[in-house]
Amino acid sequence: MLLDGKAISKTRQTAVKDTVQSLPDAPHLVVVLTTDNPASQSYVKAKEKAAQHVGFKSTLIHDTTLDETRLLQLIDTLNQDPGVHGILVQLPLAKGLNVERVMRAIDPAKDVDGFHPENVAALFQKRPGFVPATPRGILTLLDAYEIEIESKHVVIIGRSQIVGTPLVHLFLHRNATVTVCHSKTEDLKSYTLSADILVVATGRARMITADYIRPGAVVVDVGINRVDGKLVGDVDFEAASKVASYITPVPKGVGPMTISSLLENTLDAYTRQRSQS
Ligand code: NDP
Repeated sequence: MLLDGKAISKTRQTAVKDTVQSLPDAPHLVVVLTTDNPASQSYVKAKEKAAQHVGFKSTLIHDTTLDETRLLQLIDTLNQDPGVHGILVQLPLAKGLNVERVMRAIDPAKDVDGFHPENVAALFQKRPGFVPATPRGILTLLDAYEIEIESKHVVIIGRSQIVGTPLVHLFLHRNATVTVCHSKTEDLKSYTLSADILVVATGRARMITADYIRPGAVVVDVGINRVDGKLVGDVDFEAASKVASYITPVPKGVGPMTISSLLENTLDAYTRQRSQS
């Protein structure tokens, strides 16, 4: 069965839109883009379009000339502005910009990407904070299909700070047993074949073939790779879908869930800031 991220994302966006209509003013998301990277430009465009669709105010600051001092000044100005509720600095940053210093500069209360150390620690310690959009979206998608997580064996391939590592904590918080694999893992198959839920986030096109999947497992494919002008995941969808019980397609799987989760994070940021003002 397909885990239809596009449909679930649409439902979630409608819920955000309905909430926004009852608010005294619009949540405001500011996206800063420091490169001309075509993939980043298309992600940013999708985020802007979705933000506008749900009734947010959305501002894109696209400036490839920013050095670190000016970028940090810009972030400080956005931090101070009570009319800005969410700040997202699109990664990867332009050359010469230090990602840790830039992420640390964002007010944790406006850090809707969840990359500030304060939000990273909050997830680690199970405190309220912002969870990165892709991991949040994956859990939302599994919940939408009422897929059981507690006591299940979740195998995550990939340990990035954006996807794999935050997912470890989210699944642990839900009482799953979690195994994390990466490029140095030996005999990957010996782990994946015992997965009830297999999450693949490697950026290696179609590397997970049907023989890596336990029959009946749930497969979440996070990968976005362009092969011969076509978007494909890290899982060989055609073959894997014959073995898995549930599987996400690429596109229209995890990607749209990332967008709706970013909107939900921004709405949460707005609500928390309003309740404190
Ligand atoms: P990174 O490159 O940061 O991390 C990739 C991870 O995969 C690393 O931990 C790496 O191991 C591991 N890995 C790479 N090759 C192998 C291999 N052959 N066997 C086992 N593990 C391997 O990528 P991201 O986490 O940022 O993204 C992963 C994919 O997800 C990409 O395709 C990206 O485009 C996509 N993505 C999609 C999003 C969406 O909204 N759908 C959002 C974010 C990302 P090691 O740590 O040892 O190097």
